[in-house]
Amino acid sequence: MNPNHSGAPRGQERFGQGWMDSRRRNETQLREEVLELLWTQREGGINLLDEILKSSAEEDLDEILGAMERDGWIGVQNGQVTFREEGERRALEVIRRHRLAERLLSEVFELKEPDFETSACQFEHILSPQVLESVCTFLGHPPVCPHGKAIPPGPCCARFQRDVEPLVRPLPDLKLGEEGRVVFITPRSKGRLEKLSSLGLTPGSVVRLAQKRPSYVIEIGETTLALDEEIAREIYVKRV
Ligand SMILES: [Zn+2]
Ligand SMILES: [Zn+2]
Repeated sequence: MNPNHSGAPRGQERFGQGWMDSRRRNETQLREEVLELLWTQREGGINLLDEILKSSAEEDLDEILGAMERDGWIGVQNGQVTFREEGERRALEVIRRHRLAERLLSEVFELKEPDFETSACQFEHILSPQVLESVCTFLGHPPVCPHGKAIPPGPCCARFQRDVEPLVRPLPDLKLGEEGRVVFITPRSKGRLEKLSSLGLTPGSVVRLAQKRPSYVIEIGETTLALDEEIAREIYVKRV
């Protein structure tokens, strides 16, 4: 918010820091990193304090966890860490911001890893709730991040706002004859994903919607594929 107040390269000062360099970051940001760590560990089935401490290079992790426990964000019992309501809500917000930032950076700015990952870590701390809703709507309320991890839905996803034209949308939203680049696929099963990719349908491939009824028919290069609506809805495309 403040304009430059010193001669230091401010951009670098604010944004050039990763997880390892924690000393100069403020408490809020540090806690957000820890909430993020706890959330992803939980996704991996890990809630043991010892394992969580081992999983991170953060020197002050023990201390931060202690402070968060005192504030009622988390509970630590029998060596297990669990979120309390406040911590769960805050963690969900941070994760949502991080994963939506990843989608934004990879889809819109077409950054590749590790660039989008690094930038997402910085973005997540500066996106306001209002901006985040616009980003989510613009991206078509994506269910997963580029790594395939779930993005917790926000209020905008429930309302499914129509006031911003989504950039990324399910394949059936293409018009007949229109082309789209596959951005991500969210199949019910891994087998289905493998089947689709063996047919040449992978993120990055360009498809043309040739028919909508009685089933969806798409063309990928020389290949023509018929898809059930259920599967077609799991394929998200960006117009090309
Ligand atoms: Zn991700
Ligand atoms: Zn949304």
